[in-house]
Amino acid sequence: MSKVAFLGLGNMGGPMAVNLAKSGHDVAAFDLSPDAVEKASNAGCRKASSIADAVSGADAVVSMLPAGPHVKSAYMADNGVFANASTAALLIDSSTIDVDSARQVIAAATDRGFAMVDAPVSGGVAAATGGTLTFMVGGEASAFERARPYLDVMGKNVFHAGAPGNGQAAKIANNMLLAISMIGTCEAFNLAERLGLDAQTFFDISSTASGQCWSMTSYCPAPGPVPSAPSNRDYQPGFAAGMMLKDLRLAQSAARDAKAPTPLGAQAEALYALMEASGHDRLDFSGVMKLIRGDL
Ligand code: NAD
Repeated sequence: MSKVAFLGLGNMGGPMAVNLAKSGHDVAAFDLSPDAVEKASNAGCRKASSIADAVSGADAVVSMLPAGPHVKSAYMADNGVFANASTAALLIDSSTIDVDSARQVIAAATDRGFAMVDAPVSGGVAAATGGTLTFMVGGEASAFERARPYLDVMGKNVFHAGAPGNGQAAKIANNMLLAISMIGTCEAFNLAERLGLDAQTFFDISSTASGQCWSMTSYCPAPGPVPSAPSNRDYQPGFAAGMMLKDLRLAQSAARDAKAPTPLGAQAEALYALMEASGHDRLDFSGVMKLIRGDL
């Protein structure tokens, strides 16, 4: 088993670090929040007092940080990973960040002689805790193969998406599609109801017809047809609307850079921004149903 430095012990990183420790790795855990470090150490990780302390002697570094600027600083600053880890250490960033930052950090890592992958995840806190995340990995094939044993501990599906940054690209393209299909599902249920169908009747028809999609059959935004869906608990997350908005903003920014037209992605961003502006960004992302119904 190896020595792993884990940076960022929040809602996702905390349980991911604990799963690595439970599988027998010696995990040195660091977060800017002492409470988060304490919690991880109570669950089997070793406390680290800084990034330098955590990465000292590490065979692998895993980071789970909020956004691009945090990742750049954690890796590239004087007191960061590049300046303090051995170049033999494999670097895995699992944060959801913009494609550009991911590519810049990996290029800088490569220049310094490190192998590094971007490995963002799909699945929320429950999947992080249960070790059932999906990883989308960008980077050299050899780096991907080195990362896989660690990712297998924290997830159940691990995909190599190709070159550096492609993990982030897969993640934001998928989530843009999810947001669009969720909004479309909300519009369809609202229209059907206003025309006199109840939600269950429309679900029975559309879920076996050509309108069928994951947003409907696994996560129905109208209360009733899918008992496990957040719509049945007043849209408590789940996957918060504010997190979806973050991913949609990343998608729009990447789409502008790539000159890829995403008119529906832009509309989806605008609708989730309205949810945020009205103070409802902590609702589940399927709570956009309330906006469509005129309930917000
Ligand atoms: P979080 O805010 O709960 O945790 C982030 C942690 O990083 C915090 O504890 C913070 O103190 C720490 N941190 C910030 N800068 C640091 C630094 N320089 N060194 C060490 N620690 C530092 O966020 P989260 O929900 O765990 O999400 C982490 C990432 O995973 C985000 O990019 C998010 O978009 C992505 N993600 C989250 C979910 C989810 O459901 N929560 C699902 C998929 C992906």
